Amino acid sequence: LPILEPRGSFARWSELIDGRSRAFSENETLALGIIGQSLRAFMASRRAASLDAAKRELETVQLELRNQILNTARSASLGELAAAIAHELNQPLTAISNFVSASRVLMAKNDPDQKKIAELMDNAVHEVQRAGQIVHHLRNLMRPGMERKTTFDFRAMLEQSVKLAITSSASGGADLELDIPKGMPALYGDKVQIEQMVFNLVRNAVEAMDAQPVRKLKVTARVQDGTMVTVLVDDTGPGIAPDYLETLFKPFRTSKPEGMGIGLSLCRSTVESHNGQIWGENTGSGARFGFTLPIGTDEVAADG
Ligand code: ADP
Repeated sequence: LPILEPRGSFARWSELIDGRSRAFSENETLALGIIGQSLRAFMASRRAASLDAAKRELETVQLELRNQILNTARSASLGELAAAIAHELNQPLTAISNFVSASRVLMAKNDPDQKKIAELMDNAVHEVQRAGQIVHHLRNLMRPGMERKTTFDFRAMLEQSVKLAITSSASGGADLELDIPKGMPALYGDKVQIEQMVFNLVRNAVEAMDAQPVRKLKVTARVQDGTMVTVLVDDTGPGIAPDYLETLFKPFRTSKPEGMGIGLSLCRSTVESHNGQIWGENTGSGARFGFTLPIGTDEVAADG
């Protein structure tokens, strides 16, 4: 007896049939229609899902690009700016030091030349004012540019920027716990600035945990009174050094050898231009940075 194999067995079987097949019954037509419809629906949902995935991927890439551009632009101009400031400030500071030292020498004499001392002091004051002007110009330069406010999906933005900041940090990364409720409202604000702020806070947290055996990052978002969102970024790093607690958000305060000390001050400008608040504190198990932002009034907040 020949062994029947699937396919192989069919190769030997051929049959010619004439005439017409029986027409589908009403039930069969119905069933086939349903199968056809569900197949079409299935294909459509597959297409929609892959479209969605592609869209999300595109958004991530766009965010990454924007952050790269921002960071490059910022660090290039900041590096140059810092060098220029150092150079500019060095002159008045050296002059002040010279004037004050010279008057000190004069004052130590038996019969000090009061007129000469007054002159030296006037010069010192003049130089102090000059240094002040340089700092003033600098402050204007550091002010963020034109704002572009839109209504955007806050939840999606938060999740994306947090993940991006973790993956793009040069250090050891972190275990992430995201606690963002599904029903977060859309937010009206400058999306790019807010993204950059989240990015900065998360990157600081990850950097702070670099040498830590346990690296846990928790990002919590909540809606308050239906009018504000609050975001907390908790890390398990060494916490904020006591010396820095008071002046955290002032520019050029950094404990890092390569740091610029500009990140948190930019965060503060962003939050302030959105009428929100920002703070930093130690929790006992690490540092916590928090900010609030109003949901915004210019447009109706849609579900995110
Ligand atoms: P930079 O990162 O260039 O130092 P920032 O303005 O972002 O500038 O931060 C200023 C300083 O605040 C840091 O140098 C660090 O001392 C402190 N800091 C910021 N975030 C944290 C954190 N998560 N844990 C501990 N210290 C922090």
